[in-house]
Amino acid sequence: MAGVYGLLPLGLKVYRKIENIVREGMNSIDGQEIMMNVLQPRELWDETGRFSEISEIMYQFKDKNGKDIGLAPTHEEQVTDIIRHHIKSYKDLPTSLYQIQVKFRNEPRAKSGLLRGREFMMKDMYSFHVDEKDFENHYKKVGEKYLDIFSKIGLKTKYVAADGGIFSKYSHEFQVICPTGEDTIYYCDKCDFAENKEIAKVKNDDKCPKCDGKIIEAKSIEVGNIFPLKNKFSSAMGAKYVDNNGSEKDLIMGCYGIGLTRALAAIVEVYFDQENNMMIWPESVAPFDVEIISLEKNKEAEELYEKIKDKIEILYDDRDISAGEKFAEADLIGAPKRVIVSEKSLKSGGAELIDLKSGESQIVEIEEIASVL
Ligand code: ATP
Ligand code: MG
Repeated sequence: MAGVYGLLPLGLKVYRKIENIVREGMNSIDGQEIMMNVLQPRELWDETGRFSEISEIMYQFKDKNGKDIGLAPTHEEQVTDIIRHHIKSYKDLPTSLYQIQVKFRNEPRAKSGLLRGREFMMKDMYSFHVDEKDFENHYKKVGEKYLDIFSKIGLKTKYVAADGGIFSKYSHEFQVICPTGEDTIYYCDKCDFAENKEIAKVKNDDKCPKCDGKIIEAKSIEVGNIFPLKNKFSSAMGAKYVDNNGSEKDLIMGCYGIGLTRALAAIVEVYFDQENNMMIWPESVAPFDVEIISLEKNKEAEELYEKIKDKIEILYDDRDISAGEKFAEADLIGAPKRVIVSEKSLKSGGAELIDLKSGESQIVEIEEIASVL
């Protein structure tokens, strides 16, 4: 059905790398990983009124006993339920919980493949604080970490002021500039000013409101979004803590999402070379570091593969198909480096080592390849 995709071996390899970079990033700012449920009972969502409020996006149905169930499109209700059972005092705060999990959303326009799925993977983190000030500090820290995570997976993102939707007055999105994106942003060519069109007070070619730079309009893909929740969920659901004077207060919350499968698709949008029908993955998320192509089942290629296969991730192609087919597939698989072993390369002194990104190619002695790689 539209908007529903699985991942095959190569896609899953890339996905796991993205996931691990995101996980390390969350752990480094003291996020604790949990795993919440997909099946949600109506009663929990009635506490905030959202079972009705977001029924268009939430898949809802009755089970065999006639009980109303929903598939989680997001997890504020459940995480707030967990917290109200476990956090009692200001001494337990701040705390951040995150998960990496499937989300279901009945998207009216599921298109562009993994960019907009009805079933997709998200990293969602929720933080809990004694007051606004502590929350603000954390929000800033998460924002900086997000920029770092996105750049690690090869995505240059803009930190864009945006509408807070049903959550809050404002939020911040992480947008990758890309002509196939569904969003429109306005950003300054000089400073870090950037706004989503939905709230923007500027237009193309305006002078930047923050500096003497110029505003540029661009299409973009939203790969992350962070929101201040204040006490919206804690007050509706009675998630309180006792402060250092002994009085009960609402928890102050934030939530922070990254679209993991959307990020994977965004990397393809940015790095796929249409003209040459060729993918070159950023090294950090590439399914393989190197592809070794053995053109004539050369024994030197086999030896090289055996020697380095435990040290780096290699795809070794010694199949009985034409050189042309091997190259065309290697172009689509997109390992950033390629080693070609053939009678011709051996005659010239070794193997041909190509760095796909720079296009640089050199003949390297077989014995030297391991150390060069
Ligand atoms: P959009 O505006 O694109 O519909 P959203 O603002 O509703 O997304 P959020 O609730 O902010 O999405 O979700 C956090 C992140 O999850 C988004 O920044 C995006 O990267 C990702 N995401 C949201 N919806 C989808 C989807 N249908 N398919 C894939 N990824 C998604
Ligand atoms: Mg969003």
